[in-house]
Amino acid sequence: MTTSATAKATARTAVSRPRRPRRLRRLAAPLLLAAGLCMSSLTAAGTVQAADGTVVTSTQSGGRTVSFTFDDGPHPTHTPRLLEVLRKHNVKATFCLWGDHVRQYPYLVSRIAADGHRLCNHSMAHQDMGGWSQQQIRQNLEQVNNVIRQAAPGAQIIYFRAPYGSWGQSPQVAASMGMQPLGWRTDIGDWQPPGTNELVRRIMQGVTPGAVVLMHDGGGDRSQTVSAVDQTIPQLKAQGYTFDQPAVR
Ligand SMILES: [Zn+2]
Repeated sequence: MTTSATAKATARTAVSRPRRPRRLRRLAAPLLLAAGLCMSSLTAAGTVQAADGTVVTSTQSGGRTVSFTFDDGPHPTHTPRLLEVLRKHNVKATFCLWGDHVRQYPYLVSRIAADGHRLCNHSMAHQDMGGWSQQQIRQNLEQVNNVIRQAAPGAQIIYFRAPYGSWGQSPQVAASMGMQPLGWRTDIGDWQPPGTNELVRRIMQGVTPGAVVLMHDGGGDRSQTVSAVDQTIPQLKAQGYTFDQPAVR
């Protein structure tokens, strides 16, 4: 939302959390179960899934794919325009929803879901959860999921993204609730609109194979973002990119 916040968010997200070696994770599973800390599910092979709440920053398929993600909506003007653009180009994206905005514009959430885009929990009031307890985080995330489910019954909420990239203990809580913590690799800095041409330049220069791209459809005037998306989708396709969703571990 602010220069420093965005810079901080980018810096924090650029560093991915180290993953425990597979063997250690397998050894840890019985201990977690015994301690009653079973926040994860076990596969047939007995390995732990999403136990550590790793923040993903890349697409599901990797290679020459890209994921567009849109934060802070829904917005009564910009979200419908963006949906129109995405439909025109036959691209599916991910929407990180601000709970208070979901409550204001529930019909837009049902349109997002009906168009086949993925939903992401982005907190109730765009709070910095960096210092919150797990219980505080869980209450907030549950509240958001409830308003999303009221707006779009049956819709799956696949991801959680922490406002400002200030993760704190939220990745573990989100994972325990069945949501994949979702970061990003490319931030185009559209929080303060620099002009459509500049946004087009930033997207085309910033996208790398497998990148999750952070953009905004809410929280301000996002008309430049919508225009930039309209222009860059054909350019990226011409470069051999296909559109994918962020990874789910
Ligand atoms: Zn946000």
